[in-house]
Amino acid sequence: MHTTFCYLCSSDNYTVLFRGSDPRIQLSPEHIAARQGSINKAFSHNWVRCNKCGLVYANPVPDAINLAQLYAESDQGNYIDENDNLLFTYGKYLDKHIAEISNFGTALDVGAGNGFFLRKLISYGYKTVIGIEPSSIACASSPPDVHSLMRNTMFNESDFKSSSVDFLSCFQTLEHVHRPDLLLESFSRILSKNAIIYCIAHNFGALGVRLLGARHPIINAGHLTLFDAQTLRKMFARYFDVISLFSISNRYSLYYWLGLLPVSEQFRNLLIQTSQFMGIEKFRLSLPVGNIGIIARKM
Ligand SMILES: [Zn+2]
Repeated sequence: MHTTFCYLCSSDNYTVLFRGSDPRIQLSPEHIAARQGSINKAFSHNWVRCNKCGLVYANPVPDAINLAQLYAESDQGNYIDENDNLLFTYGKYLDKHIAEISNFGTALDVGAGNGFFLRKLISYGYKTVIGIEPSSIACASSPPDVHSLMRNTMFNESDFKSSSVDFLSCFQTLEHVHRPDLLLESFSRILSKNAIIYCIAHNFGALGVRLLGARHPIINAGHLTLFDAQTLRKMFARYFDVISLFSISNRYSLYYWLGLLPVSEQFRNLLIQTSQFMGIEKFRLSLPVGNIGIIARKM
């Protein structure tokens, strides 16, 4: 672990928001598993808010090599039953901006999970579609039609020529990386002129976070930075021309929603079993639970 500074304004002047767990507890792949780490609170970061720009980040943070290893071993794809719902949710906001896209050459999805979004990119008619995902478990669980398009690796700028990518999506990944600012800078270099970048991030400014504080699922060991509408826009505006920033209504099955509830495991299981008994666990529900989307253009 090492101490860090604000990724948005470089200040090291901050206020502690939530104190971290006992430093003797080691961060493990289970703690950062996607959509599971949110309810596993054995390890927690020390969360701070920058006094200058308001960015919320974990400080200290795990070392980069250690983190790459943790992600390679963690499960970032245990939501395959929700593929259709994720595709519906993330796809509908991009559909509204399809007119902004002029070049359908190469499309890249970074932090692609099991590759569910690649289907959308194929349906748009991109000539080359690539999914980048460090978790081997997630890659292995990708559906057969997109499996060959997945690359099981961390994102490496050197794998792409500058200005060679015409569309880039990155969902709920910026929160997980060491330097979201440097990642966006890398993205801006590989994107072609007028290319579109579409990202979704958790919203620290959401009402639920204010109500639940450290018990909220987004305050978890897998996250290192948490944005709100203002800090996300500011960070993107450094490298891109922001077209639209919007709040996301996520559609999931009732089963999935119940799995996220910040209640005891026993009570959560009881609710899930009750929904299964009633045969309503697959009921689809759209809720604005605090995600923000941003669509921007390479200048
Ligand atoms: Zn700052």
